[in-house]
Amino acid sequence: MAGKLRLYHYIPATQTEGPGLRAGLWVQGCSRHCHGCAVPETWDFEAGYEESISVLADKILSVPNLDGITIAGGEPFCQAEALAELIGKLRERSPDFSSICFSGWTLAELKELHSKGVDDLLSKTDLLIDGPYIEVLASTARPLAGSSNQEFHFLTSRLEGWKDTWGNTKNKIEIRIMPDGRITANGLLSGNIIHEVLHKHYNDKGGSKNG
Ligand code: SF4
Repeated sequence: MAGKLRLYHYIPATQTEGPGLRAGLWVQGCSRHCHGCAVPETWDFEAGYEESISVLADKILSVPNLDGITIAGGEPFCQAEALAELIGKLRERSPDFSSICFSGWTLAELKELHSKGVDDLLSKTDLLIDGPYIEVLASTARPLAGSSNQEFHFLTSRLEGWKDTWGNTKNKIEIRIMPDGRITANGLLSGNIIHEVLHKHYNDKGGSKNG
């Protein structure tokens, strides 16, 4: 899938997925199948939709005042090469553009893969939030992460300003009512509240838990 990404969801600008104003990207496809995952609809590698990396980069950079991008899933590192290319294109025109990336694999597991694409994406990731969602360890005490086993790895100095304060950041959600009546939500709440609202009552898609 040269030059393309398979996506589940894209939000041009959000304030719930890390510091500042960020693009939110949820990729399609995950092989981990964590018990209790809030977004099992992201597991199927054939679902979602394809997007050209160049077109997506243009879309993202056309949004004013963005500080960076947060990439969740699905499993971002299943599309590591393409995501590394995307971040590279963003930084060609916006060198300080920060990146937060989730993975169901731990940092150690990712390094052990010895994959060029994985290594490329790690080298372009400023903050990695790693590890699978473990239902018995579910916690919304920290921002962004859904279970207490997940660790925050600041891999570069680009998010240095947030490094000392992220622990004080409160979780929040954004709910959007689209022009066609669809309702989407992103952010993190306990008890899969967003998932229940969106999928049982509105039968719609939204990113509520970052994998
Ligand atoms: S929580 Fe994340 S890693 Fe686990 S199955 Fe869901 S999308 Fe995949």
